[in-house]
Amino acid sequence: MSDEPVIDLQSDHYFMGEALRQAKKAFEAEEVPVGAVVAREGRIIARAFNQVELLKDATAHAEMLALTAAEVVVGDWRLTDCALYVTKEPCPMCAGAIVQVRLARVVFGVSDPKGGAAGGALNLLQFPSLNHHCEIIRGVREAECRALLQNFFAEQRQRSRVRSPAPGASDTAISSPQSAKPARSFRCGRFPWPWDPARACRPRRRCNGDGRDSAPPGDTMSHPTVAASDGTWDANG
Ligand SMILES: [Zn+2]
Repeated sequence: MSDEPVIDLQSDHYFMGEALRQAKKAFEAEEVPVGAVVAREGRIIARAFNQVELLKDATAHAEMLALTAAEVVVGDWRLTDCALYVTKEPCPMCAGAIVQVRLARVVFGVSDPKGGAAGGALNLLQFPSLNHHCEIIRGVREAECRALLQNFFAEQRQRSRVRSPAPGASDTAISSPQSAKPARSFRCGRFPWPWDPARACRPRRRCNGDGRDSAPPGDTMSHPTVAASDGTWDANG
């Protein structure tokens, strides 16, 4: 007998692998890397990855696109005998759609305690007063799903640092068109907490990172009271 592990083509592990393949496509397209597949009677009937940026559509999460494609294949809006495999816990929008299509089963990789709606931040998939409840399986191939997201946001932060270099860094990046974007100056640490407008950076100024702003005279607009993304995956997907 061979020592090769047997691949169970019906297993959650296998289907999550297919969702991970979709997530990697999102990664390559510089989208938040979330992938999803819909399975029915042991076969994949729809695949999708997050395409919010590509389609300029905030609803183009992997789950939404996969569910719509599955509805076309089934020829019905009811997906009662289908399972969704998605690399990250669904957000409230996607969880709402999952309940609407009467999906039987949702399997996801990494939980999202801040924005997840399958038990992370809230549980819409098993909400007592809603007329449909889904079975939830969490943590399938979690490490791989998490690593993909972490790598993506690490790259994003790296790019952001290139656009907003530290004091003394090369002037090449400063003179690039991207670094001329207004106000990402709170990334330099001049975003005081508790909020104090007197100590804050100003939009349309390039903070030098040492408290001195290189701003035109008379520009007194205060910094917007929004925090920078902390690199978690609550933006898209
Ligand atoms: Zn979503």
